[in-house]
Amino acid sequence: MNDLARQLFGDDVPAKRLALIVDLDETVCTGFACPLRAALDVLSRLHRQKVEVHYVTARTEVSRKGTDDFLAEHRLPGHRNVYYCPNWQGSKRHKAEVHARLAREYQIIASIGDTDDEEGEASRLAGVPFVLVDRNKPDGAWAVLAELIIAVEGFRVEIEE
Ligand SMILES: [Mg+2]
Repeated sequence: MNDLARQLFGDDVPAKRLALIVDLDETVCTGFACPLRAALDVLSRLHRQKVEVHYVTARTEVSRKGTDDFLAEHRLPGHRNVYYCPNWQGSKRHKAEVHARLAREYQIIASIGDTDDEEGEASRLAGVPFVLVDRNKPDGAWAVLAELIIAVEGFRVEIEE
């Protein structure tokens, strides 16, 4: 582990599996299914055996098919880990509960999203690092997240022949 990883996790190798918490709308895509290039670039480089991706979204079950299709079309990791907002629950409460649950189960590298009041607040309550996406300039947040992933050596290494 390098220095940043040590700052994040202390001297101990994390005992829990590594994971990312990722918002969908305005974070991975705009207009429901138009992908953000920076998000695809980072998520497609992930070492999938090492880092799990969990999508925590305000979308409800009615969006499941479209969401599955989007994740499959762009070969995004974590398609089994989409947490839809129950109809009976507000999205803020939903995100807070899922962040807390995931933070108990995984070593969360960071949560990334565009709504500070929802996933940002959920992250702070769960003690998880949060990276805020600027909707006008999403690349910056994904670059920050990439640095955190590099720190835990969570990207695939291409072996040159
Ligand atoms: Mg969003």
